[in-house]
Amino acid sequence: MNYDREGLIAAAKEAMMKAYAPYSNFYVGAAYLMEDGTIYSGCNIENASYGAANCAERTAIFKAISEGRRDFKALALCGGPKGEVDKACYPCGICRQVLNEFCDKDMEILVATKDGYEVTHLAELLPHSFSKEDL
Ligand SMILES: [Zn+2]
Repeated sequence: MNYDREGLIAAAKEAMMKAYAPYSNFYVGAAYLMEDGTIYSGCNIENASYGAANCAERTAIFKAISEGRRDFKALALCGGPKGEVDKACYPCGICRQVLNEFCDKDMEILVATKDGYEVTHLAELLPHSFSKEDL
């Protein structure tokens, strides 16, 4: 698959710096590439009522879905304390389940590290998943 991986990671990093994370100080950014090249990005948004927080992956995917888009081609993620990316920041379980609803199991997921990025897929992150095919 041909696309600008570094550019997508840069979009995730730009979104990460908009994180609202006064409680954890852990900033996360996500950027979805659509089939036509459009990028939907998002950050984590915390709340004084901790359970009301939303992850970057879901902020961005809900933006896309609510704009009528479902043609996800790739996802880039990055995260770290106050936006300092060091080790890979993989999606939480809730986000993996949301991704499973809308994204192909073989969609590339790029996870930024200090020196570059790791590549994974939903099939690897959420094996034996429960999905709409099971209903
Ligand atoms: Zn999450």
